[in-house]
Amino acid sequence: MQVSQEASGQFRRRRLVIAAVVAALVLILTLAFRFVEAKNHIALQSRTFASEAIQRFDRLFSPLDVAANNTMGLVGLPCDQVRFPLVEKLASLQTVRAIVLVQDDVMYCSSIFGSSNINFSTAYPELAVNNERMMLSTDDHLLKGSPVLLLWTAHDTDNRAGILQIINIEMMSNYLLEPTLPWVERAVFNVGEQSLEYGNPMIEKARPSEDEVSYQDASLRYPFTITLFGPAPAQLALMTLPSQLPLALLLSLLTGYIVWLATANRMSLSWQIIYAINAREFRVYCQPLINARTGGCDGIELLLRWHNARQGWVSPDLFIPLAERHNLIAPLTRFVLSEVVRHLPLLPACSTFHIAINVASSHFHHREIINDLQQLWWPAEPKPQLIVELTERDALPEMDQRVVTQLHDIGVKLAIDDFGTGHSSLSYLKTLSPDVLKIDKVFTAAIGTDAINATVTDMVISLAQRLNISLVAEGVETAEQADYLREKGVDVLQGYFFARPMPLEDFPHWLEERQNASRETPAENG
Ligand code: C2E
Ligand code: CA
Ligand code: CA
Repeated sequence: MQVSQEASGQFRRRRLVIAAVVAALVLILTLAFRFVEAKNHIALQSRTFASEAIQRFDRLFSPLDVAANNTMGLVGLPCDQVRFPLVEKLASLQTVRAIVLVQDDVMYCSSIFGSSNINFSTAYPELAVNNERMMLSTDDHLLKGSPVLLLWTAHDTDNRAGILQIINIEMMSNYLLEPTLPWVERAVFNVGEQSLEYGNPMIEKARPSEDEVSYQDASLRYPFTITLFGPAPAQLALMTLPSQLPLALLLSLLTGYIVWLATANRMSLSWQIIYAINAREFRVYCQPLINARTGGCDGIELLLRWHNARQGWVSPDLFIPLAERHNLIAPLTRFVLSEVVRHLPLLPACSTFHIAINVASSHFHHREIINDLQQLWWPAEPKPQLIVELTERDALPEMDQRVVTQLHDIGVKLAIDDFGTGHSSLSYLKTLSPDVLKIDKVFTAAIGTDAINATVTDMVISLAQRLNISLVAEGVETAEQADYLREKGVDVLQGYFFARPMPLEDFPHWLEERQNASRETPAENG
């Protein structure tokens, strides 16, 4: 529509900003959502990796416990007697490199080397003295320097006899701790202070790594833990974001476009009008109402003007119907009311002076106009007579017609505007009993030019006179029209012939000049 065009790049920019903000929000939210999702997924991967590794280690260790208990009966027997059963047992346990029997704190028999005489407490104080069940160590005998895990099963509580299994932990860890990139870069098996890392055949003291520890978990059955190193889940998740970007962008553009479309109609106009009220782009003009008999000014009609900063003047014939359609007419009428109240001191303070305001039919719903008058008009204790001009653009529901009557009852005069152009003029005459009929300017323009419309003009005039309703003729542009209407007995004349609409604050000056002129040449105006 034309208003939309006139309405401003400013508004379009505003819509664009709203659409862009929504699009940006959708983009950010989508990426944030994907980020959190990826982060949780990565964290879950690490947790799963660790718990699966722990379960597998546990499953590998538990048959060794069974084997140790089954072999416990051999402890104390002479080494040459037990050597063969030990080797046999060993053959069934793939992960065990050697089994050593300990009696009276002495490692006296090994499945590999046979008899020996090594002090258990001295060799492995962690197990013998500290009562640990497991320790990581380095093989000093068979495969020198290779990492082994010692699993100690004590015969009884004094911890001086039992079975020591030397486990080939490197083989196990090579198969159970293989990192899964990108979330697990390094996986470490820890027992006490010692640790064994995948791919590193050395037992090292567990030391804090420069890398971030991404996860750590402990076995519930054996004294070992698994530590995982890798980029922080958040960091990894961040790296996945570029691949999410196209979809997120598509979604955000789509939403932005929908918002752009959705704000096009309703919001556009409401925003423009609200903005224009706040930016004081509206001004209240007035057009004098001339007494046809005396030529004096009987009052004014208030007319809104919109001066858009960029588009210039916007015609009320454009913005008023749109404002009505979008329920924005009431704020405009309130603006007119507050402006005229502000200018009351400049206007004649007598009840014979009329102030006419245009009120849209929707403003009568729920007595809104009465409430507005109670708040804005009556508190100012105005002396002039208020006239409410009601157009017939929209039909007035019966309930709202009652509000008009109430208004009437409390002393506000009622005028039917544009009389003869709407649909329900005649029925309004009966139901609303108006005080004034305003003959629309098309009928005034018809005088002397258009026989049919001129006939309608005559009929309206005689109808009003018969019903004793005052008549105002709008759009009087020529002396001929004025003379004709005056002759016909029309009470009030309004039109460019007398005065064009002017800013409210210019009216006192106009009135003074007119009164001076009429004093000098009374015949011209009378
Ligand atoms: P309207 O109530 O019939 O107002 C009279 C219109 O005729 C005004 O147009 C006025 O400027 C114009 N006019 C006055 N004398 C002459 C003349 O000699 N020749 C011609 N050709 N035109 C003349 P305007 O101000 O453009 O307003 C147009 C319509 O917009 C008004 O028609 C009224 O229906 C509506 N309007 C204006 N202000 C308001 C308002 O504050 N509230 C509401 N609800 N409607 C308004
Ligand atoms: Ca009017
Ligand atoms: Ca009119």
